[in-house]
Amino acid sequence: MSEVTIGTRGNLKSVVIGRDRHVVIQTMWKDKLTSDDLKNDSCKNIIKRIDNLSSMGCGLLRFAVPDIEAACVLGGLTKKTSMPLVADIHFDYNIALKILDYPIGKLRINPGNIGGREKVRAVLEKAKDKGVPIRIGVNGGSLPVEIRRLIEDGKINRTEALVEAAMREIAIFEENNFSDVVVSMKSSNIKETVDAARLFRTKNGGIPLHIGVTEAGPLIAGVVRNTAALFGLLCDGIGDTLRISLSDSMENEVIAAREILLAVNENKNTDNVGEGVKIISCPRCGRHSFDTHAFTGKWLPYLYSVRKNITVAIMGCIVNGPEEARNADIGITGVGKKVHIFSNGVVKQIISADEADAVFKNEIETFL
Ligand code: SF4
Repeated sequence: MSEVTIGTRGNLKSVVIGRDRHVVIQTMWKDKLTSDDLKNDSCKNIIKRIDNLSSMGCGLLRFAVPDIEAACVLGGLTKKTSMPLVADIHFDYNIALKILDYPIGKLRINPGNIGGREKVRAVLEKAKDKGVPIRIGVNGGSLPVEIRRLIEDGKINRTEALVEAAMREIAIFEENNFSDVVVSMKSSNIKETVDAARLFRTKNGGIPLHIGVTEAGPLIAGVVRNTAALFGLLCDGIGDTLRISLSDSMENEVIAAREILLAVNENKNTDNVGEGVKIISCPRCGRHSFDTHAFTGKWLPYLYSVRKNITVAIMGCIVNGPEEARNADIGITGVGKKVHIFSNGVVKQIISADEADAVFKNEIETFL
């Protein structure tokens, strides 16, 4: 499989995807870009949020670029962050040409609506000149007309249609000697998403794949649907970047993606698809002597910013607490009126609940 380097210009932190690289997490900015976004306070807030997403494990951030004004604003942002930003372009190839004047990390275009071959060719030439990779983003909701006709005529099914749309676009890219390509074939249907990724891999083993169920729904439904689709693919080594598309915050999209990658690691007993803290926490019940809900909630943002493969157990009482805490790298559990802190399998301190925050943080820091 080929590798694709995203973020080769400006101050960008290069991200390499494909082959045996870690799977990279993406999310998508959920607000419209306006010219005010380049003004002081607004700009600072955007960059702060991007930095936070980066610390949580997001490696690529996509923005909708519906017009030239948005392209100029996104272009301005590319100069203020090291996160490779991705421009999502529909309908007008001129927007793609414009954003390529800036150090954009990657383009995403949709073969169903970007226009004829000449327009695609113009974008490819400029992207090649600037060293910018392109994702061919096929979406079940916006397939090219001629492919839709094949479905209507019963010649292919929807899974085959997703792959066919991608293969036709790849052929145009190949005609133009453009090889810095990533492909996605997204559907809001779990089976179509999975089958398309697997079918594509049988036809083309070399191009990195971006995977995810699109328009997957609100938080819980979207996480479940994406997990159902992506877990098996990732366990089989299919997928080089992923996005958990949710009607919810970008932060939750990143957290969901991290948790799926950690689950894949756990299942395969490796750490080669992602990294981060694995959190074991009990659901709490009437026996608890330590409030795991409050403690876990309070520490969640910090734990998601730690880029280490460690296991942290946060437990409510003596029933299951000591054993889980002992098996984790760091464990904290209620035991009667006290809180026991475990590190590397042994009780390190016995403290009061009031002391738990400071001691817990110190213990985590010994692993960093
Ligand atoms: S560890 Fe204790 S508090 Fe937590 S769910 Fe189990 S029995 Fe309840």
